[in-house]
Amino acid sequence: MRPRIIVANWKMHKTFDAGLQLVQEIISQLRQSLTGHVQIILLAPFIHLEAIGRLLPSSGNLYIGAQNCHEKPNGAFTGEIAAPMLQSIGVHFVLIGHSERRQYFGEDNALSAQKVTTALAHGLRPILCCGETWQIREKDQQITFVTQQLTESLFHLSPAQVSQIIIAYEPAWAIDTGQILPPAQIKPMHQALRDTLAQKYGISLAATIPILYGGSCNPQYARALLALSAADGVLLGRASLQSHTFFSIMDVMV
Ligand code: PGA
Repeated sequence: MRPRIIVANWKMHKTFDAGLQLVQEIISQLRQSLTGHVQIILLAPFIHLEAIGRLLPSSGNLYIGAQNCHEKPNGAFTGEIAAPMLQSIGVHFVLIGHSERRQYFGEDNALSAQKVTTALAHGLRPILCCGETWQIREKDQQITFVTQQLTESLFHLSPAQVSQIIIAYEPAWAIDTGQILPPAQIKPMHQALRDTLAQKYGISLAATIPILYGGSCNPQYARALLALSAADGVLLGRASLQSHTFFSIMDVMV
């Protein structure tokens, strides 16, 4: 059975103290409510990661992840962060190809493919983001576009490598906009992604890969997603920044 996953992407929010306070609240809330099959991944800014790692209970379903890493393992790349650095402080996951990285930093599928390889080589599990723009959806080309993102970013991997991947389908136009894709329309996309994986890697391996949904997710929406079994979990931006909305979504998912 695939785990249910909640990813909290803080983006460029939270000072050091504010971030640690939120984590303390999450830890005490989890003691009461978390069940075995749910994993929570906190994608905090780099400055928080090590301190959060020290706070986390050693056994538990709470993990730290980074929002990005460089495609090279080291080098003269001022201002960047390398996968081995993240590994050295106990980071387990790294987000790759988020639509904000694509839109504001010019990242493409080829770069995502390199980052995925480097992350895996240094013990990080990539959470690969994919999703169409509004222009693509208006032309009803979203399935072709998103499956191409998947193939160009992942299909150089071996089956053992691909088994480490988590996929997050996030329509770019739904991120941070309050615009919602009706949950019933998520199902065909998730099915197309799983079918694409199955064609390359076989049905049984494809069946193990978690596929999440992200984009202006709120508690009501998370409930609707689960009711339709439309996703294995959610990638939250804004809703992960306040404990009350985050806990409401956690309550839905556990
Ligand atoms: P949002 O962000 O929930 O604020 O739309 C989602 C994301 O980071 O992908």
